[in-house]
Amino acid sequence: MFAKKSVRDIDVKGKKVLVRVDFNVPIKEGVVQDDTRVRAALPTINYLLEKGAAVILCSHLGRPKGTPDPKYTMKPVAEYLGKLMGKPVAFAEDCVGEPAEKAAATLKPGDVLVLENTRYHAGEEKNDLDLAKQMASLADVYVNDAFGSAHRAHSSTEGVARFLPAVAGFLMEKEIEYLGQAIDDPKRPFVAILGGAKVSDKIGVIKNLLAKADAILIGGGMANTFFKAQGYPIGDSLVEDEVLDLARELIAQGGTKLRLPVDAVIAEKMEEGVETKVVPVGPTPDGWRILDVGPQTIEAYGKVIAGAATVVWNGPMGVFEVPTFAKGTFEVAKALAASKCVSIVGGGDSASAIQKSGLADKITHISTGGGASLEMLEGIALPGVAALQDK
Ligand code: AMP
Repeated sequence: MFAKKSVRDIDVKGKKVLVRVDFNVPIKEGVVQDDTRVRAALPTINYLLEKGAAVILCSHLGRPKGTPDPKYTMKPVAEYLGKLMGKPVAFAEDCVGEPAEKAAATLKPGDVLVLENTRYHAGEEKNDLDLAKQMASLADVYVNDAFGSAHRAHSSTEGVARFLPAVAGFLMEKEIEYLGQAIDDPKRPFVAILGGAKVSDKIGVIKNLLAKADAILIGGGMANTFFKAQGYPIGDSLVEDEVLDLARELIAQGGTKLRLPVDAVIAEKMEEGVETKVVPVGPTPDGWRILDVGPQTIEAYGKVIAGAATVVWNGPMGVFEVPTFAKGTFEVAKALAASKCVSIVGGGDSASAIQKSGLADKITHISTGGGASLEMLEGIALPGVAALQDK
């Protein structure tokens, strides 16, 4: 159970509520390209408005390096939110100082204000408490609904919670409940599927899951490092030589729990339409690279997924952006959608593969936070959550 207070536990009538949302959405020429994260924040926003609050939204967007940069303005997101909600949404050209204070002062119950990018201030990523205090001064209550940023202790995600009554929004609560349940009390067999480019990003996750899961299915570029650690020549495949020893340790520690691909799709170039070969895992010739898992791996992993009661998946099985090497990832997505298990997909690439294959409604929970969900799988407490009031 989620041990933190949520918006349900507080009275917000007539209050101004500062809500940290995750509006870090892709924007091209002023147009929001994917509104998943904006929509995901609506239940909390609408609930607060219904309960008679005025809502002040803040978020980071991209990496503006601590200074205003029009490329990363929040304005198009504010406009988009207005259209989505069918009501005026005000915008303040700074998240603190005069523009924010003036805009916040005029708010009435039912009003919505979006503040400019929190990362326009260098203090944000340093968890500068002065910046946090200035943000807190705009409101009476703080709500954190930005699961995607909860693994960062920044002024708007952690610092501000020190100056106001601080509770979780619905999205935060839902994310933590699904992921927390999977890790702490999963229905078994509990299977983790881990892919993506690098092992180094996921060492902590593999270690923690080796203690908790019944099987870990490895795919993607990170499998190459395990192959090399076992002594297989991997040609020109992506590899991390600096973690070979660690990979060997994980193999030894994992025993039969840690499953590696048994075959691979290889090619000389990472390009659409090039000649490919399917080879059993073993020597990959020089000049060739492993770019996807092969059909026998898909079949074997599919069986494990079909027999699982809980599955968490993070990271693609191959270079899925190139259709020639996307099969492994999409077949895993299909197997997951077809399985009766509780299925949880971590943000980023795996979530986008699920969306692209039109299988999203067959998945129990698709997380909005890649990094944050990985840290939960690693067993690390999220600072943005730890800072909230206990129930
Ligand atoms: P990550 O951000 O660590 O989850 O990695 C995602 C990236 O890993 C995607 O952009 C994939 O194209 C890439 N990837 C997956 N498999 C391979 C592979 N066999 N070789 C190179 N890159 C890969």
